[in-house]
Amino acid sequence: MLTITAIACTIGSVLFLMYALLPTFYNKYWNKNAVRILPQKKQILLSFDDGPDPRYTGKLLDLLQKHNATATFFVVAAKAMQYPQLVERMIAEGHTVALHSCEHKNPWYKNYRATQEDFAFSLALMKNSGWSIRYYRPPWGRSNLFTQSIAKQHGLQMVFWNVEARDWSEKATVSSIANQLLHKTKDGGIVCLHDSGEENGAAKDAPLKTIAALAEILPIWKQEHYEFVKPESVV
Ligand SMILES: [Zn+2]
Repeated sequence: MLTITAIACTIGSVLFLMYALLPTFYNKYWNKNAVRILPQKKQILLSFDDGPDPRYTGKLLDLLQKHNATATFFVVAAKAMQYPQLVERMIAEGHTVALHSCEHKNPWYKNYRATQEDFAFSLALMKNSGWSIRYYRPPWGRSNLFTQSIAKQHGLQMVFWNVEARDWSEKATVSSIANQLLHKTKDGGIVCLHDSGEENGAAKDAPLKTIAALAEILPIWKQEHYEFVKPESVV
């Protein structure tokens, strides 16, 4: 009995490795078709995941507008449908709107059909609203075996990140976020922050700290002549 359990566990682990872990690492660190690094050191690609959220996204857009900085918003399609006016504002103010799945479900636990449906349903909703979507970031950066090929079928390019500040964490403070961002973007980078996400485990009102940290460092980045780029300008 013990042997059968051990064999079943081993097979399960190997399948999980092949279906979930290997594609996740491959796409995040090696996939040449994904946007993972920027070509120049004085460039920053600011990106925000998990919104739009009426409590925070408007405040963030005000701040970006004040500093004339452009960003990429990886929106959750179901939320984008709830708050289309925020998405319209992103587009009107020159930001890029991209997809971050339909409901922020973990791709590791989706089979081929569910993965396909997630893309097809999200993109149909967004196309119906007149939004053209070219980029995709999977929830938590997790891919399954089919993510890359289905994204490609739908004309989407994956975008990952190489700078984060754990801005979703209960332990994060405005200064910890600001310090990490300044330190980690010395050579530029793709910055992943959040304008929502409590339902995915982020601390309550975490985006308020993110926005306060950005209010401190956007003028510094500007002063140091960093260029705010979008995926369109680096691929
Ligand atoms: Zn997310």
